[in-house]
Amino acid sequence: MGLGGARWPHGIPPSAGRRVCFTSVVDVITNGTEVFADVEEFLRRFAATKPKRRSRLALAAPVAGIQLAALHHPNAFARRACLGFLDHYSSDCSVAVFARALADPVEPVRHIALHSIACERCRTDDLCASDVVPLLADILRHDPSPEIRHKTIPVLLRLSDRDSSARDAVERSTHEDADELIRDVATRALAGEHIRSRKMYERHARNHRD
Ligand SMILES: [Zn+2]
Repeated sequence: MGLGGARWPHGIPPSAGRRVCFTSVVDVITNGTEVFADVEEFLRRFAATKPKRRSRLALAAPVAGIQLAALHHPNAFARRACLGFLDHYSSDCSVAVFARALADPVEPVRHIALHSIACERCRTDDLCASDVVPLLADILRHDPSPEIRHKTIPVLLRLSDRDSSARDAVERSTHEDADELIRDVATRALAGEHIRSRKMYERHARNHRD
């Protein structure tokens, strides 16, 4: 069976990597650098293509392979590149991939996953706030990176008119987060302040200390 078989939603097995149930996929992951080689070759060709011709080439993308590589390619740069491609060209059918990539051990990969899961620009279907908000709330609560937690705050507030638990999550972080700047930014965001990048707040705090 092909990797993109209709057996799994989004072409992604719910637990790719467990040998017991999904032998064919595990074989591909463990023996078949072949799938990743195809993906790498496609992304190389894609990058070398003039921007205005890319949409056409994207139609021939090995999407199932790119989804698998976004989660299992051993190289974090490749995982990032795959997520970036999926965000732009296959966002609607890659939500499950973005959700799983939020747990990637490498922070820059999680940044892309975070963008992609909540990106409404690259999507044709409506974003399902009740699916996405719990994931974002979980990141705001548990991601080890303050930079990632910071980024979830404006996204949660953008979705708060569609799911009230989004605002609750930000409210909780105003007193629960271990990082003082996150607590401060969450408080300002709830008061309606436009939230800038974490680096801006860090710079501001430094300037006022010196
Ligand atoms: Zn996007």
